[in-house]
Amino acid sequence: MGTEHDRIQPRVITRSDPTRIEIEWADGHKTSYSTRQLRQICPCAQCVDELTGVRTLVTELVPVDLVHNQVTMVGNYAISLLFSDGHQTGIYPFRMLRKNDPASEPNN
Ligand SMILES: [Zn+2]
Repeated sequence: MGTEHDRIQPRVITRSDPTRIEIEWADGHKTSYSTRQLRQICPCAQCVDELTGVRTLVTELVPVDLVHNQVTMVGNYAISLLFSDGHQTGIYPFRMLRKNDPASEPNN
């Protein structure tokens, strides 16, 4: 019996291209993000107001050709990225990356 926690563990994280990250999950599902999309959903305190939850980052201003220079595992529940714009404070929990899957159905 797999719990939800097991299901959202990544099996492989692929950086085939600096503008993209692909995640293959333990259940075989695949999620693909552009580096720009990841920067736009950055959950850190510089990008989202901690009190109101309102995004302060102007997502339209994130460059289309943004790349990531480094991907780091955070414990066994998240990754952090170093972006080419110098931003690196965002921690992306696997749960969030799975839930925000750009290709998945809205109700997933
Ligand atoms: Zn941020």
